[in-house]
Amino acid sequence: MATAALKPLSFYASDKLCAGFSSSYQLNGGFRPTSKNSKSLYLSRDEYLKNCRIRILRSGVNCSLLPPNGCKNLPDRIRHQKRTLRACNFVELDFVTTCRDTKKKGMKLVGVKAVVDADKVAESNGVLGGVEEGSGNYDAIVIGSGIGGLVAATQLAVKGARVLVLEKYVIPGGSSGYYERDGYTFDVGSSVMFGFSDKGNLNLITQALAAVGCKLDVIPDPTTVHFHLPNNLSVLVHREYSDFIEELVSKFPHEKEGILEFYGICWKIFNSLNSMELKSLEEPMYLFGQFFKKPAECMTLAYYLPQNAGDIARKFIKDPELLSFIDAECFIVSTVNALRTPMINASMVLCDRHFGGINYPVGGVGEIAKSLAKGLVKMGGKILYKANVTNIIVENEKAVGVILSDKRKFYAKTIISNATRWDTFGKLLDRKNLPKDEENFQKAYVKAPSFLSIHVGIKAEALPPGTDCHHFVLEDDWKNLEIPYGSIFLSIPTVLDPSLAPEGRHILHIFTTSSIEDWEGLSVKDYEAKKELIADKIIGRLENKLFPGLKSAIVFKEVGTPKTHRRYLARDSGTYGPMPRNIPKGLLAMPFNTTSLNGLYCVGDSCFPGQGVIAVAFSGVMCAHRVGADLGLERKVPILDAALLRLLGWLRTLA
Ligand SMILES: Cc1cc2nc3c(=O)[nH]c(=O)nc-3n(C[C@H](O)[C@H](O)[C@H](O)COP(=O)(O)OP(=O)(O)OC[C@H]3O[C@@H](n4cnc5c(N)ncnc54)[C@H](O)[C@@H]3O)c2cc1C
Repeated sequence: MATAALKPLSFYASDKLCAGFSSSYQLNGGFRPTSKNSKSLYLSRDEYLKNCRIRILRSGVNCSLLPPNGCKNLPDRIRHQKRTLRACNFVELDFVTTCRDTKKKGMKLVGVKAVVDADKVAESNGVLGGVEEGSGNYDAIVIGSGIGGLVAATQLAVKGARVLVLEKYVIPGGSSGYYERDGYTFDVGSSVMFGFSDKGNLNLITQALAAVGCKLDVIPDPTTVHFHLPNNLSVLVHREYSDFIEELVSKFPHEKEGILEFYGICWKIFNSLNSMELKSLEEPMYLFGQFFKKPAECMTLAYYLPQNAGDIARKFIKDPELLSFIDAECFIVSTVNALRTPMINASMVLCDRHFGGINYPVGGVGEIAKSLAKGLVKMGGKILYKANVTNIIVENEKAVGVILSDKRKFYAKTIISNATRWDTFGKLLDRKNLPKDEENFQKAYVKAPSFLSIHVGIKAEALPPGTDCHHFVLEDDWKNLEIPYGSIFLSIPTVLDPSLAPEGRHILHIFTTSSIEDWEGLSVKDYEAKKELIADKIIGRLENKLFPGLKSAIVFKEVGTPKTHRRYLARDSGTYGPMPRNIPKGLLAMPFNTTSLNGLYCVGDSCFPGQGVIAVAFSGVMCAHRVGADLGLERKVPILDAALLRLLGWLRTLA
């Protein structure tokens, strides 16, 4: 196991200890705002054993003495950490500067905030695979280890490329990552896992894992989402398509035909995509091959490429309430209504949830990224955490390397950015050189808002038996669907996997759209107060609508704002991703993976086909194929390449 370069540490010199630790705040992982009185640091097992009189501080209460040989006598409320503590090589401590009863012992009181086991230390110190600085031996450097970046990296490694992933944070996954607190494992973002079944061609997450020899245990979710909508409209999206249609038709019997037509077209598109081997649409040999093998499916996809779900729904459905329901169906994936959601994106998710079903990974969504990262290393790739890329090095009009915030440089034949396009072209490259294509992209798309995320642990008895895992709540007025804090997303992954929380507890991940502008310019006090106020209102709404007594059942709560998303996910303004500025022509304007800077590629949710895990995995597969061809690991015909790329560029200008 790789070890950390530990900072010298003394428990007796608090000032020295505090100095310079601000940079380790993010080692806490996740969304917890570190209080101004606390600092974080890592302690090696040896040092931990030497300093065995360290006390655990929980919520300001001095509750236990850690013996040097492990944690035999932990009180009940922290017993769930016992196993991890025993196995750990490092303990992350929260240094509290305002403790009461420590002076008599000549040492400050510290609290264990998170415990890092051997694996995670290897990850958090990042030297997985052994990385040489300044080496130009890499075929590809991937900036970021979101699902898009990891799928691209693993697929390339499988093709034989030498790949280095540089991740700013201490663990992989980005918006599909996780964090741990007080015995809870929280999903940072995604928890409805599309593309994660055991059949078809669109199960891209499963395929990406399989490519590096990984298979995760999963728990099938019987309902994708339970909608709680205005006029007390309640719709359960059952796993079985026929059950879902029956339920929807029972609410809108007069629209039976329209419902069947609309979802029928979704299936037509889904089946076309699902019948093909998915690769880069920027690679002409593959594209022509597919046209030759599956002409009808290709024509179907080409026909629907520039269309939006709302327009198609309106051809068959007249009931305004049902059309609003279709808006909500699209909104939960794209954060825009159906008129602005490309039909291809809508079809992928509206059918995948019934075709392969939604399956939740045992241990939480973070297991997917962790497994991909391990798989990458197994395939000879490398991944470096706490590696904040600040610049892409451009020489002779070609991207050739990257510079990290600590000034280290890495070089490769190709650079793939999993950062958003706003971050890639606005921050990592000189803004003066914004290429024309990117200007066009930014004209067509704006940054979608971010989220206010509330992670809570509650007493299990607060949930009625049979509670579904995922909910979407919009109480009174359809007009509130897209406004900030208008609608509420709720995931309760512990109804599927109880191991994510201590016994007798459930996790609620509650989130609602929110813009960064709403959170800027506030003093720390006002910011904290606003977080509490808004979180309290949102929780109150859930209490009224779904779970009476919810507030009093809360035993743990952390609130993250768009600023938290910006900081921990490294996404400009904490954005969810690109959102069409006007009514788009379907996916026509969405760029693929190549960029107009030679050697630079993009992957992830600001590439075709957009947001969501299935979409970014698709983007990862496409990117690896295109980069593989450019590296000589796949078939390539340069003359055709140039012609196709020009054609695609021209098509984008029509959008
Ligand atoms: C609250 C929330 C809930 C969601 N729920 C769902 C859901 O239920 N189902 C679903 O399908 N989708 C969901 N999504 C969307 C989905 O999670 C994302 O679309 C997807 O995970 C984005 O993946 P990505 O690879 O594009 O990028 P990201 O996940 O953003 O990953 C990018 C990575 O790059 C790193 N990085 C960025 N810049 C740098 C740099 N300069 N140097 C080094 N590293 C860098 C970041 O730290 C990050 O790890 C949700 C998103 C959020 C925020």
